Amino acid sequence: MSNTFVGMPAFPEAAKIALADTQLRRNLAHATKVIRTKRDGVVGELDDWEELRLAGAAIKDRALRHLDTYLEKFEAAAIAAGAQVHWARDGREANQIVIDLVQAAGADEVVKVKSMATQEMGMNEALAEAGIAALETDLAELIVQLDDDLPSHILVPAIHRNRAEIREIFLREMPDAPADLSDEPRALAGAARQHLRRKFMSAKVGISGANFAIAETGTLVVVESEGNGRMCLTLPETLISVVGVEKLLPTWGDLEVFLQLLPRSSTGERMNPYTTMWTGVCDDDGPRTVHIVLVDNGRTRALADPVGRQALRCIRCSACMNFCPVYERTGGHAYGSVYPGPIGAILNPLLNGVDSGPVEKSLPYASSLCGRCFEVCPVRIDIPDVLVHLRGKVVEATREHRVPTAELLGMRAAQWTFERPGRLAAVQRLAGVGRRLLGDRAGLGPIPLPGPAAKWSRARDVPLPPRQSFRAWWQSRNGKGRNGKGTS
Ligand code: SF4
Repeated sequence: MSNTFVGMPAFPEAAKIALADTQLRRNLAHATKVIRTKRDGVVGELDDWEELRLAGAAIKDRALRHLDTYLEKFEAAAIAAGAQVHWARDGREANQIVIDLVQAAGADEVVKVKSMATQEMGMNEALAEAGIAALETDLAELIVQLDDDLPSHILVPAIHRNRAEIREIFLREMPDAPADLSDEPRALAGAARQHLRRKFMSAKVGISGANFAIAETGTLVVVESEGNGRMCLTLPETLISVVGVEKLLPTWGDLEVFLQLLPRSSTGERMNPYTTMWTGVCDDDGPRTVHIVLVDNGRTRALADPVGRQALRCIRCSACMNFCPVYERTGGHAYGSVYPGPIGAILNPLLNGVDSGPVEKSLPYASSLCGRCFEVCPVRIDIPDVLVHLRGKVVEATREHRVPTAELLGMRAAQWTFERPGRLAAVQRLAGVGRRLLGDRAGLGPIPLPGPAAKWSRARDVPLPPRQSFRAWWQSRNGKGRNGKGTS
């Protein structure tokens, strides 16, 4: 099951539409600037920020390198603590497992904690088809759900909306919103709180994702800012957590690193307000039944890519999109997926395959390669490097002529030449011989190339090769041999 939105155009067309929306650009410019300033302030307080980034990347790489071992360890520990563990190859399987579990609990309504994994799988839509209403309880997710809109940011899904627009949505779609509702943040949050509270008290089933899964103990961790998550995780009798297999951390101690990296990079806070951790079922507190659905949905495909696998380190902090000049101008919808911004530009093609659709094909080009995403990424994902790698894959996947073109043959010849200094020197010597055979045409200007290369040289100047290469000139001047040692 794909995580891209059905029917979305490729990035260039979608970006053109977004760029014409001046209100959207104003909303995005304001919101991302506020988050960037906060993030820079709290990151600047830590002298060991770079060491934390290195540690975060190393821990995630270790977990990914031994994923099979840590997954089995996690499963055993979670079962020992009273949880039930399910495995899903893709989103369709995960959705069916969750539908069966909700129906077995006798519920036709669930409350949800904000979860990228369930969005990726289109779980709300699948539940609705099965007659189960899913209520998003994160404020921004609720705004998007009420407006029948699409999320445009992984942390602030309604970042494209301003306060006045949110007030209008509440008055239009929330029957219990007060008629005199203002657009003050406190008033808007209060209206949402009243709307959600009754649902929290009556819901039999809660559905969540997880930020981290600890292999050593079988513990799941959710970090959030509003407290709605903790209500969903503790009040319903049945809790179902849908977790991507890349969320694993080997040990409890590893959390120390990530609980510093994540809040500073995401909301620009030293600590996030609510961190909820649970291990199976507890006798005196929380849900009576805990299910964990471990989902692949393209992660092993990404893991098999030696360059792209680093994308699985992602902790969904959203710093890369807040700092991306392309995202700031186009917003998230243009990326056509639940994962927008720089991480979306690599994660979608990696999870689904670059040739799976027009969105995936276009996303590796949705970047200026300025490198800000890498600089701010708390787990050092080299997004520009992965983008260039994926562009190569797009070219390979969309090559129309299986018979190599003249351009491709030329590029391969250039690659062969530049791979070894000795080959380059030999080609330069040959070029010098050619120059002598041509005679001195210096006064006649650039040389036209023959055959299929003629078109190329009509638009570009091909200079005459020099009589002597720089390398030969240097050796004759300094008396050095090929190995760099003096010859006399
Ligand atoms: S790629 Fe890095 S910066 Fe972007 S969301 Fe993931 S962890 Fe955060």
